Amino acid sequence: TKQIFSGVQPSGNFTLGNYIGAMKRFVALQEEGNCIYSIVDLHSITVPKEPKALREYTMQLAAMYLSIGINPEKSILFIQSHVKEHAELGWLMQCTGYIGELERMTQYKDKSTGKDVVTCGLLTYPALMAADILLYDATHVPVGEDQKQHLEFTRDMAERFNKKYGETFVVPEPMIQEFGGRIMSLDDPSKKMSKSNPNAASYVALLDEPSAIVKKIKRAVTDSEGIVRYDKVNKPAISNLLTIYSVCSNEPIETIEQRYEGRGYGDFKKDLAEVVVNALTPIQQEYTRWMASPELEDILKQGAERATAIASVTMDRARRNMGLVTF
Ligand code: ATP
Ligand code: MG
Repeated sequence: TKQIFSGVQPSGNFTLGNYIGAMKRFVALQEEGNCIYSIVDLHSITVPKEPKALREYTMQLAAMYLSIGINPEKSILFIQSHVKEHAELGWLMQCTGYIGELERMTQYKDKSTGKDVVTCGLLTYPALMAADILLYDATHVPVGEDQKQHLEFTRDMAERFNKKYGETFVVPEPMIQEFGGRIMSLDDPSKKMSKSNPNAASYVALLDEPSAIVKKIKRAVTDSEGIVRYDKVNKPAISNLLTIYSVCSNEPIETIEQRYEGRGYGDFKKDLAEVVVNALTPIQQEYTRWMASPELEDILKQGAERATAIASVTMDRARRNMGLVTF
């Protein structure tokens, strides 16, 4: 059976990009293997956060996981910092990876360029991510396309460690969707949609009110051709909107293209907003329920216990193989 691990950072308002590129799939994967999903708070502090905001986003993300359909009876859902082995194996991974490898990461370049100060953690982020995955002997890691490079690094770390210290880690496979693996910003189709983008008009948040969704989609960048046609290279903005439409309505792209033949972008955008609102409404209703639920904390506590039981075994193996004395 598949051993599945993935995480999302509590770093902002969860977006359609997070949902389409990664989280939507987490739900279906519950039928395919053992799933372990994390709220990776230790990753989100690589860019310093207000403590209050971090606390809020953490609980919101927990509620969001449950709202989209993660079943805590089936899957393990936990907060990364509750399982100390992440930080511990993260250190071993920092001492396995090379600075040159980390400096080449595009996420590091994107997030550090033009900043006055950059934390050490932003550079070593991929080492912690390798630890997250390797602790659970994950065979499969569902992520968006932007994480491909970090997954490659994780595989390298597992192989390097195994070669040097003997069989310790499972080498994981990335699961990246051909379609929807990279949702672009509404204001700039050359950049990926990101929840940490300070411009809220660049993304649709899963918790956006219908009126905000309508407004954001109406203002989304298009092109001057006026034809609703999927062409990623020449029409990146419209292709991005078509992808969102297709995923949210469960209709193939061709069906949608045909529907808007001879009609302008105005009609298309109006319907797209409706399709997105319809897809998000049930999630938002569940979310309200979960945020008010006293069960939320217990689910996370139990999740951390179950995660620790797995992670501590791997951690012990890694420690011993590396030559750290254990009694
Ligand atoms: P941040 O801007 O803080 O990095 P983010 O929006 O990139 O936030 P993450 O928590 O870093 O979100 O990533 C969570 C998951 O969502 C990852 O699997 C990531 O690959 C995926 N993801 C993020 N943005 C997109 C996107 N635009 N399209 C598809 N998948 C995405
Ligand atoms: Mg990200």
